[in-house]
Amino acid sequence: MIPYGRQDITPDDIDEVVKVLKSDFITQGPVIQDFEKSVTAKVHSKYGVAVNSGTSALHLACKALHLSHGDSLWTVPNTFVASANCARYCGAEVDFVDIDPCTLNMDVSSLENKLVQAKKDNKLPKVVVPVDFAGQPVCHEEIHELSEKYGFYVLEDACHASGAIHNGEPVGSCKWSDITVFSFHPVKIITTGEGGMALTNNDEFAKRLALFRSHGITRDLEIMNDKSQGAWYYEMQELGYNYRMTEISAALGRSQLKRIDEYVARRNYLAGVYNEAFADLPLKSQTVLPGNLSSYHLYVVRVSETKRTNFYNTLKSAGIGVNVHYIPVHLQPYYRSLGFSPGYCPEAEKYSREAVTLPLFPTMTDEEQLTVINEVKKALL
Ligand SMILES: *Cc1c(COP(=O)(O)O)cnc(C)c1O
Repeated sequence: MIPYGRQDITPDDIDEVVKVLKSDFITQGPVIQDFEKSVTAKVHSKYGVAVNSGTSALHLACKALHLSHGDSLWTVPNTFVASANCARYCGAEVDFVDIDPCTLNMDVSSLENKLVQAKKDNKLPKVVVPVDFAGQPVCHEEIHELSEKYGFYVLEDACHASGAIHNGEPVGSCKWSDITVFSFHPVKIITTGEGGMALTNNDEFAKRLALFRSHGITRDLEIMNDKSQGAWYYEMQELGYNYRMTEISAALGRSQLKRIDEYVARRNYLAGVYNEAFADLPLKSQTVLPGNLSSYHLYVVRVSETKRTNFYNTLKSAGIGVNVHYIPVHLQPYYRSLGFSPGYCPEAEKYSREAVTLPLFPTMTDEEQLTVINEVKKALL
């Protein structure tokens, strides 16, 4: 089976992890801070808070932005469920904005129309979560402009997009977002086993991210209510969580980060080969806009709805690890129980009926890719 994604672990990665295992700290030590610094240096953000998953990073980001009961968060249906669930953890409502059928990212005019209506109804969102689907950065400038006009926070779900670039800015720089979130799950661009990071340029958000990461406890005298106590004193100021990353994970991440540009380059090369091979076939691939360097976490194609089941099954039985990204989040039973139903986001729903993800990972060989291409051609006959 050629999988749709796969991590790359080198002897250097293993050495770095072993070093930590032999050291004094296997969690809450110096490597986590060093990993955070390496990531922020790479993406040009002021702060990075490393956590135990991308999902935790999304949850902490919502807490940092004071998302709560009575608020709402908007995201897209074409994403992993975590982009929406983070609002539910905070007791907030979720709503969905449809996607652009070519870029497969949040459709900015749908967002704007929805904002116009929400303003009339006095139901504007507190947070909007655009998702860099498959590694392609969203239309940042436009979304940022709307955020200023309508007064919402932008929480960018860049779990697919570490290593991507938009108009010269690395994804994660937070030039157009309040907080940007990465995942380091093994199928993503770089891995820490499980892990994630929340990036921001805002001092207050950074403090709150760190506070909520570790039980809401602080040892920072500056922010304590009671400053008269001794060196032993700590305060729990908020109901936080244990979302900390381990030193073991951070060591792996720091080592992987050194190869992120190579990974993204190889992923782009392989995507280019696919694009060329499929140019004359009845398949549609994702449009990557000028100014974007996608990190190509995923390579997705659209095949006509009537052919999709057969196409998917034929490839699967030929040993090609196909997948569907994503089942529209609003059509999951949990979200249906909150009142969403088919027809709510027609573009995302149509895309989902046609979508197939093909294998793409940096260690994929040219021969493996040729096998996939040949099987795709056969499956379309
Ligand atoms: C992977 C992913 C997440 C969650 O990340 P984990 O590290 O698996 O918790 C969130 N959003 C998107 C778009 C993802 O792809």
